[in-house]
Amino acid sequence: MLSVAIDGPAGVGKSTVSKLVAKKLGWHCLDTGALYRAIAVACQRAKIDINNIDEVKALLKTIEIDVKFKDGLQHTYLNGEDVTKYLRTEEIDMLASVTSAYKEVRDSIIDLQRNLAKKENLVVEGRDITSNVLKDSKNKFYLDASPEERANRRYKERLARGEEVDYQDILEDLIQRDKNDMTRKIAPLVCTSDSIRIDTTKLTIDQVVDKMLENIKLN
Ligand code: C5P
Repeated sequence: MLSVAIDGPAGVGKSTVSKLVAKKLGWHCLDTGALYRAIAVACQRAKIDINNIDEVKALLKTIEIDVKFKDGLQHTYLNGEDVTKYLRTEEIDMLASVTSAYKEVRDSIIDLQRNLAKKENLVVEGRDITSNVLKDSKNKFYLDASPEERANRRYKERLARGEEVDYQDILEDLIQRDKNDMTRKIAPLVCTSDSIRIDTTKLTIDQVVDKMLENIKLN
């Protein structure tokens, strides 16, 4: 099977770009952040102390994460319940950022990700796709942008959704999540030497998509 592996920091526009690239290719797109977020929802509901690895480990034994594509869109399941609509909140941002640093959390969803990519051609986006999950992919990309530009994009996105937002809060959250992702011991976010790095700061979404499509090898 073929794959396109995409990594990059929070708020860089990976989801939007990955979905558009997948659409052009006629493939599905797997947002792996949604899996970490579904685990975070389980932590939130069980009200466990996420800084206590034993509590997180015990919880992992009671949960099952799954993904299905319906009408081209990803639905993420926690113990059989579609939790997609609960994944994108600020609280879940932080819970996922902290719990994704645990090896046990990462190990619990690695097979799911690899099995999905074995079944069909897939665009897969996250933080450790190029470095770990799909190390052998022939199409690897690292999307980047300055923290200020990423915070600005998030700010506008949330404002458009009618949410109450504070730019400074968003910027600080992003910087904290970058730090968590880049400095953790297990599968930290890195730009691998065989990835094409695209600085999206001054590019439009279409320009990023075109740049990627120009470089994707389909044989
Ligand atoms: O991409 P998204 O912001 O939805 O991811 C949520 C969190 O899951 C990230 O902050 C990151 O810590 C974690 N993550 C990860 N590895 C991935 C995808 C996401 O550690 N492949």
